[in-house]
Amino acid sequence: MNKGAKHKCEHCGESHDELPALAFNTPFYFAELTAAEKETIAEISNDFCIIRHADQTDRFIRTVMTVQINDACEDLDYGIWVSVSEKTFNEYKANFKKVPKETTYFGMICNEIPDYEASTLGLYVNVNTQNGGIRPEIIPHQKDHQLVRDWEDGITIEEAVNRVDKMTDAIKNKE
Ligand SMILES: [Zn+2]
Repeated sequence: MNKGAKHKCEHCGESHDELPALAFNTPFYFAELTAAEKETIAEISNDFCIIRHADQTDRFIRTVMTVQINDACEDLDYGIWVSVSEKTFNEYKANFKKVPKETTYFGMICNEIPDYEASTLGLYVNVNTQNGGIRPEIIPHQKDHQLVRDWEDGITIEEAVNRVDKMTDAIKNKE
């Protein structure tokens, strides 16, 4: 989706701006590695990442999270990396795009989503795999975090646009 792309909305029939998907290209912990470490101890593709530290190996998969916007036609979609166990990683990878049966795994968010006071790193989520080659959807469920309240209650278009702006700034500052 291009930012600012206008199209006839399938919900209301009007032409209006679409929100871009807020996608993180890598897990936070991959981005923190030095260039040399990225070469030597890490592997990354569009959907999988492994980091082999001396004392432990961390495994991540790419997922989506959708936050409902209460006063707009569309929702806010995030592309988010989640750390999972070795067993989950291997099972998910083995079935990847093979139309697996829908399964729920456990994971932890491994991206810092801008515009939240408390860090989003390590938040517990359910990871629901989806049929048809669609990335798994995550459901956050740690009650005390604003992200979970947003997911449960929805947000306003103003909040959504603010998050898009903060995320765009965060990406710019990294480059
Ligand atoms: Zn619309």
